[in-house]
Amino acid sequence: MNLSTLASSIAESPTLRLNEEARLLRERGEAVIHLGIGEPKNRAPMTALLGAAAKLNTGDVKYVPTDGLPGLKKAIIRYTEENYDRLVAPENVIVSAGAKQSIFNILYTILNPQDEVIILAPYWVSYPEIVKMCYGIPVTVRPEDGTFHPRFEDIERVVTSSTKAIIINSPNNPSGIIFSDEFIATIVDFCERKGIYLIADDIYHKLVFDGKHPAPAYRFTNKDIENSKIIVVNGVAKLYGMTGFRIGWAIAPRKMVEVMTNVQSQVTTCVSPFLQTAAEAALTGMQSIVEQLRLTIQNNRDVIMNELHAFTDVKCVKPQGTFYCLPDFRAYKQDSVELSNFLLRRAYVVTVPGKEFGMEGHLRLSYAGSVKDITEGIARIKWALDPNSPNEIYIGDKKMIRDWM
Ligand code: PMP
Repeated sequence: MNLSTLASSIAESPTLRLNEEARLLRERGEAVIHLGIGEPKNRAPMTALLGAAAKLNTGDVKYVPTDGLPGLKKAIIRYTEENYDRLVAPENVIVSAGAKQSIFNILYTILNPQDEVIILAPYWVSYPEIVKMCYGIPVTVRPEDGTFHPRFEDIERVVTSSTKAIIINSPNNPSGIIFSDEFIATIVDFCERKGIYLIADDIYHKLVFDGKHPAPAYRFTNKDIENSKIIVVNGVAKLYGMTGFRIGWAIAPRKMVEVMTNVQSQVTTCVSPFLQTAAEAALTGMQSIVEQLRLTIQNNRDVIMNELHAFTDVKCVKPQGTFYCLPDFRAYKQDSVELSNFLLRRAYVVTVPGKEFGMEGHLRLSYAGSVKDITEGIARIKWALDPNSPNEIYIGDKKMIRDWM
């Protein structure tokens, strides 16, 4: 077969692959615990469901403007004003099929072949692949060992004349940490001075704990939106647990939104209008669901940290947001892919190898599921890894034999 070298080099999303593996195991009747999942278990907000149903009931589900329905854009403008203290115009907003497509559109719009994009490890798995799909080169910066927090000096050191953008994601998938206000201020100032785009992926910005809040990048620039290098990405997926609705957006200068709109028009034409109506209803409806979700996840974070504490050889930085943590399993195994496969095979627990996030020796564990799954999942991991565990346990009615890799 004669396929594109570039397309063939793009890795499968490991999280989506693991979802599929877990689904197949469950279909076989195995009692799988999914600590790899990247979505909360809540039902979608009723307002969103009613909004989508009302639109469907009109029977008028046709092509709509490529950059988004005016009603949803209005809701996004209000959201941006309330949460970022920025007044933006409809021409600064483009709605896409999820924040993932927003990020693709942005990178496709700004990158020339061989332009470099700085990505801060640990990073969301899709960033390097999307950069490559846009003919760019991902340049990874590693954090200070044991902290997960990037250091500005390390970023400055890798900047070249080809650096086109830096992506920040705070709170961070997979570590759950929030970048310090000082760091955000420094990086914003640097990007504005150097003319480097700063892409702020704020998809988890309301899923934060213990009264901490990530500083929005806009706070540290006095440039207006047309002249700023800051591009903000957000969406309803994590905010309302509406992952399947596939609605994300970008806030950027008009000219950039214009080009992104042309790109999107040639790829997907527009985002489905009834899903946009659902997102608009979620954004304009009762916001107590966001707080309920946040409190549930914060409680889950406390549960998983508590369970992990009993694990003396595993270090885990306490997450300040998201629904992930990234414990260090190097005391057991350096190779996180092998470790993750072992845990799936031996204990039916899905974890995501840290290697996929640029952090070998770690496993990303999600606490978006139920407390029962979290406690049972960690107990099974302990059983599988602890040499003093009993040799056999039952998972459901299946006898599992402990054998170290
Ligand atoms: N950015 C980050 C950091 C994410 O974790 C995700 C989803 N896992 C996305 C973007 C994509 O969000 P969406 O589902 O809206 O495409």
